[in-house]
Amino acid sequence: MATPLYRVAGTGPIDRRQFLVVTGSLSAAAVWSTRALGTVVQSPKFSDYPFQLGVASGDPQPDGFVLWTRLAPKPLEGGGMPGDAVEVAWQVAEDEQMTKVVQKGTTVASPDWAHSVHVEVAGLKPDRWYYYQFRSGSETSPKGRTRTTPTLEQPADRLKFAFASCQHFETGYYTAYEHMLKENPDLVIHLGDYIYEGPGRENLVRKHVGPKLKELADYRLRHAQYKTDAALQAMHAAAPWLVAWDDHEVENNYADLISEKGTPPDDFRTQRANAYKAYYEHMPLRVATLPKGADMPLYRRVSYGKLADFHVLDTRQYRTDQPCGDGGKAQCADALDPNRTILGEQQRNWLFDGLAASPAKWNVLAQQVMMARVDFKDGEEKIHSMDQWPGYEADRQRVLKYLYERKIANPVVITGDIHTNWANDLVADFDNLGGAPVATEFVGTSISSSGDGRRDPERLATVLAENSFVKFHNAERGYIVCDVTPERWRSDFRTVEYVTRKGAPLVTRASFVVESGQPKLNKA
Ligand code: FE
Ligand code: CA
Repeated sequence: MATPLYRVAGTGPIDRRQFLVVTGSLSAAAVWSTRALGTVVQSPKFSDYPFQLGVASGDPQPDGFVLWTRLAPKPLEGGGMPGDAVEVAWQVAEDEQMTKVVQKGTTVASPDWAHSVHVEVAGLKPDRWYYYQFRSGSETSPKGRTRTTPTLEQPADRLKFAFASCQHFETGYYTAYEHMLKENPDLVIHLGDYIYEGPGRENLVRKHVGPKLKELADYRLRHAQYKTDAALQAMHAAAPWLVAWDDHEVENNYADLISEKGTPPDDFRTQRANAYKAYYEHMPLRVATLPKGADMPLYRRVSYGKLADFHVLDTRQYRTDQPCGDGGKAQCADALDPNRTILGEQQRNWLFDGLAASPAKWNVLAQQVMMARVDFKDGEEKIHSMDQWPGYEADRQRVLKYLYERKIANPVVITGDIHTNWANDLVADFDNLGGAPVATEFVGTSISSSGDGRRDPERLATVLAENSFVKFHNAERGYIVCDVTPERWRSDFRTVEYVTRKGAPLVTRASFVVESGQPKLNKA
């Protein structure tokens, strides 16, 4: 999408004159009415432009979506807002010029939630684009564009979505998002590692501000720093997002309340509450996911008409500790223990109920860690990642068995986490289920994490030789774009050859098609 919905933060309102004309035609008094809201400041004065973190939208439904922004005139200095709550007005329009306003209202940005704003808009028309904008005091936000989903009754012929993960700020530029923007996706899915928790390090592309994350102020600052990235902001402003975290939003490889580095569980509970709160504050999430202390109900379902159901999973909050230590190992007895889980029983039951009830042509499991039991070691010895589903083999088999036995329509697993691309046939090679593929897994590489990637055809050949169900592997940066119709699913592995410098061109390294009714990867 080439239309300039977006401008670089910090240069003043994009077209305030136009905005004022619009509100004038609707009676400014009515649009920006000042209700009595306790001690809410209705006409705040800001020390600098307050919308420097951009705007976002997410979790679309047939009649609406959630709109997000956060007032932060000094994003890297604690936000720069006074201790008062502030009124923020919002508008949704049918046109980019914001002349056909269809909904408007006011909400409150409170210091308790870092002056973030989450507006759940309902009552809109299905399956179409909308534009939105915020205003507070005399300042107007950049405009955003978002869309509603089709209803179950409507024909949903096509969905184009992109998915991404792992955007370490220090190790590279978000060039991949600049390319993703031009693809004009209907939806963007982020599968986690949206931020990283480490302290600022020298001699990298960019530098984290602040220490290793622990306190609420630390997590807020880190989210704010990431949100200052122009390419990330532009992608948020161009389409609705569905977000789910992985580990680094809290700490590397944590499992429920078990910290990687042995932080006592009570302390880690506080740290996790801080991390989850800051995550909520900076994401376009509905109030249904509002954190309560260290608990945040993030797993949820979003439907795109009858074409696709997205079952968004949380494989961090409810998992038992990684078995046999976190690293790569052969599957030890603990990895096979049926009492160990990566989803938790409640989420697993929720997933199964949702799959059984789904009317969708494609059932997408949007989640974090690789489900395929990839053997990373050449030769006889087997090495699997205990942080991935093979560390939780009982849950892995339960899910694959459920998909197989209940004949769930076209299951596709989309995955992040490991900064490399994979295309896997998910095979139920246990319990005499025949060894046929029951689902397809596309693993997206990182946006920037691990720095410049590389092609390694030799490694690819080895991986393929060790794992007959793997059809593609690559270690460059990028994202995956998926074009979905009732008849077929196409995934294109888009990559950039470098991220430590700006401006890398886009390359398509591989493309696969899955035909409806045949869970098997075909080279496109
Ligand atoms: Fe990562
Ligand atoms: Ca990860």
